[in-house]
Parts: sequence; C-alpha cells; structure tokens
Amino acid sequence: KKIIIAIDGFSSTGKSTVAKQLAKALGYVYIDTGAMYRAVALFAMKHDLVGENFIKKQDLEDKLSEIQINFKLNLKNDIAEAYLNGNNVENDIRSLEVSQFVSPIAAISSVRKKLVEQQQKMGAEKGIVMDGRDIGTVVFPKAELKIFMNASAEKRAQRRYEELTAKGDKVSYESVLKNIEERDHIDTTREDSPLVKAKDAILFDNSVLSKEEQFEKLKGLALE
Ligand code: C5P
Repeated sequence: KKIIIAIDGFSSTGKSTVAKQLAKALGYVYIDTGAMYRAVALFAMKHDLVGENFIKKQDLEDKLSEIQINFKLNLKNDIAEAYLNGNNVENDIRSLEVSQFVSPIAAISSVRKKLVEQQQKMGAEKGIVMDGRDIGTVVFPKAELKIFMNASAEKRAQRRYEELTAKGDKVSYESVLKNIEERDHIDTTREDSPLVKAKDAILFDNSVLSKEEQFEKLKGLALE
C-alpha cells in the first residue's frame, strides 16, 4: 500500500538527499517544497519586491496569481527540476542570495496558502515523499510516516558550505553559518506554521547518524 512520507526539519540537515534516495528506492515521487518557496523568492527578487532591508508584501501578494511553479523530470540526471513560469530555475534557486530572502518570503501567509494548496494537490495520489518545514504539521497532518530531522548548526553549515563551493560559489563558511542561523530563527518564530516537530514525527539527529544509516533506518520505517 502506498503512503505519504513527510520529512521536515531544519535547513541543511540532509532532508532532500535522503528523501530523494528513499523515493527512488520505493518508486515514489519526490517533492521538494523548499524549491517552491525559493522560486517565489526568486520571482520577488526579479521584480524588485525584496531586497537587503525591504519586502514589498502587498505588491508581491498582488502578483501571486502570476506565479506558476512546477517540476519536470530531467531524464539526464533523474532530478525533478523546478520551473518558474516555464523557465528552469533549478540552479538559480539554490544561490546564497535566494537563501537570504526566502525565509521572510515564506513567512507571508498568502504565499504559504498558495503553495500548501498546490502541495496538497500534488500529494492527492499517494506514493510521495515530500520534504519541507510544515509537511507533517500542516500540509499532510495525516501522513502515514513523519520524520523530523535536526543536526547542529555547525554541521549543517559545513555541509552547505561544501555544496556551494563545489558548485563554484564564492562564499565563506561564516556567511553560510549566519544564513542558517537566521533561517532557523525566522522559520521557528514566524506566526504562520512555524517550524516545529509534529508530535507523532520520529526524530532523526543527523549529527549522529551517517547518510547510509539515515537511509537504511528510513527505508525500514517506510516498509513497516
Ligand atoms: O528546504 P529549503 O532549505 O530549500 O527551504 C528554503 C526555505 O523555505 C526555508 O528556510 C523556509 O524558510 C522555507 N520553507 C518553508 N516551508 C516549507 C519548505 C521551505 O517555510 N515547507
């Protein structure tokens, strides 16, 4: 029987890596909800609706209906890549700049409402692994399996720093750590759907578990 698997947790805890692996092993569809919030942030940046110390909330809300996000499978790398209004933005949404603007954008209720509705439609057919911050609490409170991932901020920053520099991004470890701490703060203190572990979610501490251990443990739980 196919189920819904909700994977939530803090930024850069390795949610997407293990979620992708798990979806592949089970023949499920993987949905990266962070990519959707990142695409809205990219849209806002392109339209000058967000910057260093401003956010034009009303203007963004007026334009929400112009934002279309979808995923298309790239057969070359087997990745479901994010598209914003028909353009492939998979690479652009992963920049540190987008990471800096995404959490304030994700704190806007109307943005969350739009994306949550779309995510619920995407999961209408079971057999999905969805990762994010509010999947087990808000998007699919009845998901059959819920995981909540955490790890120390330093471990997470190191991971993210290695990912970004491997891509050729010129960033410092300190700036990455600062961004992670800022996102943690905004994500856990926002009014609408703050990041919190669902009561029935199973806690994974990735400071302790290796990637292989995470995957094996998760697969075992999914097949129970
Ligand atoms: O998962 P990722 O780090 O790509 O998500 C980027 C940001 O989008 C998070 O820091 C968070 O602010 C927001 N987000 C959210 N709810 C989700 C997924 C992501 O608020 N379900």
